[in-house]
Amino acid sequence: MSYRAEYIWIDGSIPTSKLRSKTKVVPSGEDLPIWGFDGSSTNQAPGKNSDCVLRPVLVLPDPIRGGDDVLVMCEVLTVDMEPHPSNTRAACVATEEKYASFEPWFGIEQEYTFFKDGRVHGWPSHGYPAPQGGYYCGVGDDEIYGRDVVEAHTKNCMDAGIAISGTNAEVMIGQWEFQVGPLGPVATSDHLWLARWLLYRTAEDFGIAATLDPKPVKGDWNGAGAHTNFSTKQMRESYEPIIAACEALGTRAEEHIDHYGADIEHRLTGLHETAPWTEYSYGVSNRGASVRIPWQVAQEGKGYIEDRRPNANCDPYVVTRLITETVCSQAAG
Ligand code: ADP
Ligand code: MN
Ligand code: MN
Ligand code: MN
Repeated sequence: MSYRAEYIWIDGSIPTSKLRSKTKVVPSGEDLPIWGFDGSSTNQAPGKNSDCVLRPVLVLPDPIRGGDDVLVMCEVLTVDMEPHPSNTRAACVATEEKYASFEPWFGIEQEYTFFKDGRVHGWPSHGYPAPQGGYYCGVGDDEIYGRDVVEAHTKNCMDAGIAISGTNAEVMIGQWEFQVGPLGPVATSDHLWLARWLLYRTAEDFGIAATLDPKPVKGDWNGAGAHTNFSTKQMRESYEPIIAACEALGTRAEEHIDHYGADIEHRLTGLHETAPWTEYSYGVSNRGASVRIPWQVAQEGKGYIEDRRPNANCDPYVVTRLITETVCSQAAG
């Protein structure tokens, strides 16, 4: 008997990388081997020297195929077994090791939008849907589009062992969110990339496409973000390190914005529950700030902060690495 392993990796598309995958039939009892692919088809290698290497980093049960089949998150290496330039995970691993004593945790709120037949799912073929107001956490056939996909995706994530922690309908019609975490920087990111793959794959069977476009509809409609919740051991114990973390993020705001996802300036306008990308701010309960200290955290004097800036299309390996580096390097003095 054999089983199927779906090797999943992140490509070299610019400015936003995409997920790719292919199936390997593996004889039972054999370990998952290192594998390869044609990097000239994924913007990861020239045609004359096209081989790239896939190294498994996380193996989970495949909830769609079932049985002994597995999903295999991979990192991309060159044929010298070095991290490929498109491999942002390797640097995230190094940062997590460097600041291990801080025990950083992340929880990411992944927002996304469903498309059907080339338009936002729920958008009428002529004219406009009702303006925003009733869709967020809504219920009913006039407000909710795609709940069947959301339910199937959540179940698939749970069955795979992904640390999904919740879902909700979002402010724009056809827009949804799921949360992953809290886990360390690398694990949160591995889980989020796999949850994204499962989202696309689950929606396929419903004839629906999901997109992480940060501003899928221009105008008076909310964009899609990836609010990134963060804490260190010190922040989980007292308040002063929480303020210090907010201040630290302010010292490298431009660098963070540059790495929080393509087209971030279209989303962080200062409207629609965002702070303008040009100005850094933080505050308790403030959904118009770059970084929010949740009300309950201020009340209890410990907990975590929410960086509201990352785009839905961000690379979590990059976002979690940057936040860990910026906050922990300054806390270390
Ligand atoms: P919001 O109120 O902004 O919509 P959500 O409930 O959607 O918040 O998401 C909160 C996220 O914060 C979850 O992903 C959760 O796992 C994460 N989280 C909770 N506690 C911590 C913590 N101490 N450190 C990091 N992340 C945390
Ligand atoms: Mn949320
Ligand atoms: Mn949200
Ligand atoms: Mn949030």
